[in-house]
Amino acid sequence: MKELMKGVFILPGDTNIGLITKDGYGLMIDSYREKSARDVIKFAFNNGIEIKGVITTHAHVDHFGGHDFLFEKGVEIISSPIEEAVVKYPILGTMGMSHGVYPLSFLQNEHFLADKPVPVDRVLEQGEHELFGIRFELFDLPGHTLGQIGVLFKDAFFIADSLFCPKRMASHKVPFHKCIERELDTLDFLEKTNYRLYVPSHGDPMTKYELDKMIDLNRKIIQEIEVEILEFLDRPRELFQIYDYIFEKRNMHPPNGSLYFLLQNTILSYLSHLERKGDITTNAYDRKLYWQRNTNRKG
Ligand SMILES: [Zn+2]
Repeated sequence: MKELMKGVFILPGDTNIGLITKDGYGLMIDSYREKSARDVIKFAFNNGIEIKGVITTHAHVDHFGGHDFLFEKGVEIISSPIEEAVVKYPILGTMGMSHGVYPLSFLQNEHFLADKPVPVDRVLEQGEHELFGIRFELFDLPGHTLGQIGVLFKDAFFIADSLFCPKRMASHKVPFHKCIERELDTLDFLEKTNYRLYVPSHGDPMTKYELDKMIDLNRKIIQEIEVEILEFLDRPRELFQIYDYIFEKRNMHPPNGSLYFLLQNTILSYLSHLERKGDITTNAYDRKLYWQRNTNRKG
């Protein structure tokens, strides 16, 4: 474990786990997997800290995969209102990835489906809170998921997957967000904040200066993808053609079905965003659904 500032720790890893502490009590931020959750419990025990709860930034398996282990240990499971549904019923999240139907077998793996549903003990809204003597503030950071939250404790802001860091960008090529306009709002919000340290879930802790650079990079990629899609939709295209076009342009090569679905969902969220904005429109004819730039739109 690394101490970022007094009483604030992270277990760095593929998903960083946070630990905020006060007077011998601790709250974890995410759990990643059983192994990492176990390591944090052990560290806490050796340092005279009793872990009372785990705050879920959002219900993706790489963030709450160790929750059932923690629950067995009597640790309180804490979540935001929307994410609560998926922590309790992980199959809902996997169905989301599987176009809403009961998940394909290859989506039912450790990357997309948690081992066990976990009861949620406490649902917390955005705002200031005090639990077990630990004062912290929660902020809604929607975009990556609808109910994602960040945790501010002292001068350290745990910002979950609200932005993609270089390592993630290299593997994903296109940031995965459920709702692009909320993600853009979240980036605007983060830009207005000013804390000593920002801790993303998949990357190194950053200063405000580094955060701002990362915000610019994330905005830039979102804008580039929008432009690429709009350029390609200068004539009617089918969905699979759009996927293929962006995959090729962005050098995305899904090696299996589950990653194909993930990347497809990623592109679909950009289409959904552009459609809601009125920039693109769909037309059904000849048993097909065509997507095209909205030529009725001025400007
Ligand atoms: Zn995530």
